[in-house]
Amino acid sequence: MGFDELLKKCDENNNFTIYTSLCKAQRILMRSYAPICSISGGADSDIVLDLIHKVDEDEKVKYIWIDTGLEYSATKEHLTELEQKYGIEILRIKPDKPIPTCVREYGVPFLSKYVSEQMMRLQKHNFQWEDEPLEVLLKKYPNCKTSLQWWCGERYSDKDGVQKISQFSISRNKYLKEFIMQNPPDFPISNKCCEYAKKKPAKRIVKKLDADLDITGIRKAEGGIRSAAYKTCFSECKSKGCNTYRPIFWYTDKDKRDYEEIFGVQHSRCYTEYGLRRTGCVGCPFSKHINEELAIIEKNEPNLYKAALNIFGKSYEYTAKYRAFVKEMKALEKEKKQHDRLSCSTKTSSGNSANYGDSCNSCVSVGTEEKE
Ligand code: SF4
Repeated sequence: MGFDELLKKCDENNNFTIYTSLCKAQRILMRSYAPICSISGGADSDIVLDLIHKVDEDEKVKYIWIDTGLEYSATKEHLTELEQKYGIEILRIKPDKPIPTCVREYGVPFLSKYVSEQMMRLQKHNFQWEDEPLEVLLKKYPNCKTSLQWWCGERYSDKDGVQKISQFSISRNKYLKEFIMQNPPDFPISNKCCEYAKKKPAKRIVKKLDADLDITGIRKAEGGIRSAAYKTCFSECKSKGCNTYRPIFWYTDKDKRDYEEIFGVQHSRCYTEYGLRRTGCVGCPFSKHINEELAIIEKNEPNLYKAALNIFGKSYEYTAKYRAFVKEMKALEKEKKQHDRLSCSTKTSSGNSANYGDSCNSCVSVGTEEKE
């Protein structure tokens, strides 16, 4: 299909996000001499591959896939299908260290990349998960300021002293601090598998292939720290000489569905048969739907299920305990609110008949209005 026909199809389907992305991808590829496209085998990556392949008239794009050491067999099969469909070769890249080795050597990921990073740093300093003011902790553990700031939800500088923070604070995960204080982890936590099984091999291959453009499938709508790290679809990187391009950065979920329909994109069996909502490393503890995913993995890839339990088991248990804790705390909070409301209204009604001075603040105006 010629480029004009592609655009016509987008036009006919009233999707100008896809239309624009095709035009932009063509322009960006024209300016690159050695582009690489990272394939994951997931749904977003399928669209990126289809889009890039459509505009890569000189067939200069090299496609790479990093084997993290915990990959669905359905993903591996899908890579072969993609190679056949598009007549391309997808280079299989070995990780610097596969996930099982990373977890064994450094620790297991827990909850999110950021939480794991901070907990890993604190564990390194033999932190005792104590609830002390930031100034006290900074003196006690002088070399982990960022993580202590996360733990306390405060920032310290000589100029401004201690100030509350919200974005990089533990309070972004409700009751996490209370949970950890009551249940200190007895196993090492780390996000190093992302570094050794994903980031480092990606950097290595960029260097090896002397790539000047790295194409990835990040979308703003997917949310999370990965997409929040970028503001646009293109990042120039003068230092390493390799720019990054995210062709579907502005795609909404509807644009994705439109693209699949307009251009007939088929996803791997992970989606079509297993019913997974997302792919990636098998059983990654960062997944918000990990229990649902584990049930699917157990049914469809039993050997990988056993491997995931073996590798991430401690994190699954700790996460389940944390979720139960949050549920319990929320129930208590609700109960307390109800109790406060009840005692408040009791006070008000007794105040109406006897003494308005006893009413709680939130009820004073009501009591006053009623009196008038
Ligand atoms: S996505 Fe999860 S399992 Fe995969 S490398 Fe990162 S932390 Fe490890």
